[in-house]
Amino acid sequence: MNAQPSRVRLRAYKVGFGDCLLLTVSYKSALPDGRRERHLLIDCGTIARAVDGPRLTDIAEQIAKHSDGQLDAVVATHRHRDHISGFGNKGAAQALDQLNPRMVIRPWTDVPETERTDPRLGLDDDQRHFLSVLDQVPALAEHLNALAFDNAGQATRAGRLAELGFKNPEAIALLESWGSRGRAHYVTAGDTLDVAEQLPGVSLQVLGPPTLKDVGDLTHYAKDSEDYWLGLAGERALAPLVQPGNAAAPARARRVLAEPGGVGAAEWLLRNLSERRISQGLEIVEALDDVLNNTSVILLVTIGSRRLLLPGDAQIENWSLTRDKVEGRNGRKQDRKLATALSKVDLYKVGHHGSRNATPKWLTKHWAATAPPGHTVVSVLSTKTHFFEKSQEGAVPKPELIAGLGELGPLHSTDDLAPGVWWMDLEAPARGNATFTFTAGPDMGTP
Ligand SMILES: [Zn+2]
Repeated sequence: MNAQPSRVRLRAYKVGFGDCLLLTVSYKSALPDGRRERHLLIDCGTIARAVDGPRLTDIAEQIAKHSDGQLDAVVATHRHRDHISGFGNKGAAQALDQLNPRMVIRPWTDVPETERTDPRLGLDDDQRHFLSVLDQVPALAEHLNALAFDNAGQATRAGRLAELGFKNPEAIALLESWGSRGRAHYVTAGDTLDVAEQLPGVSLQVLGPPTLKDVGDLTHYAKDSEDYWLGLAGERALAPLVQPGNAAAPARARRVLAEPGGVGAAEWLLRNLSERRISQGLEIVEALDDVLNNTSVILLVTIGSRRLLLPGDAQIENWSLTRDKVEGRNGRKQDRKLATALSKVDLYKVGHHGSRNATPKWLTKHWAATAPPGHTVVSVLSTKTHFFEKSQEGAVPKPELIAGLGELGPLHSTDDLAPGVWWMDLEAPARGNATFTFTAGPDMGTP
């Protein structure tokens, strides 16, 4: 069997604030099933559609065309809606379901509850506990969202969290149905996936997420939050305020205490306590939200001489194990093979839509210091400018990061695509020194 890849193409669809990428590998001759291409979908989601941009359903229909009706593998980097909402959106999910993916790759932190005791996974009590804390977050976020309704600032924060969302039951259900019959792979840093059948000639190396044994910091916020969460639920005095899912409860409690004639002190005390609790709760959920980014699968994909780095929304803690291996820090032996492989990356999907905490500086320094002469790193950014700027994260995308990546090679953002253009293509031969070339998709008009 001649399974030599000849070309590599990464399509980035203009989803707005989110990620949706299709990696297509072409082969010199037909594979045993008669096809000459194989397709890997990496995420499909948005939380803020591009102005005049396509709907998720439009994008899913394009993916069906671009993959000729068959997906060989799907990666859902992590559970945030901006990465998986397409698997839950009715129209998009219907179109994608027809593509019958043969393999589903998700982080170990997404293992369904019923499978967490499977000895093959080797999850210990700490790890299972961490996962159960993450499981509780949707209820907490929903509850806070209900409580924050009468405070503009808090409602904005809570609303943003609800939008980002931990809770994507439809999307998770579809991913899990695809993953049945042994097609699901819950991956951990250090794994190399066997894709000889699905994607011949392609190597999928997992750099993240690490296990908790490797990087305890992954749960740093979760551990703090767990204590808060118990405190929040356990205080009896304000019980009416903490009943989940009852938006009217705080107002009713205030009315009861404040009547007759509006007893100011009670009203003030209750409001104050309530707001602090909501604020504390929001801090916890925001922290857990960051933790969820840290559960992102980081993939290093090698196809011939091409290397693509696809990190989802992984933040510094998720990256730290890779850093320790590359630099030989924190008691770890330097992994020269990994260091060399990383320095040869020629296509980088910018982490977390260009936010400041997701592309570690050591990585860009590593590229600047070790890349072969004349080597460029082409960056692909999927983002929507100004969407995140009200959050504490500052500007997204972060101008300093964009400038830094610009020094290593061209950067292409979905946000810069002309109106009516729904995707961009980055294409390169599988072998040789040629870099990825950019082509904007055709004008598809306004949906
Ligand atoms: Zn994201």
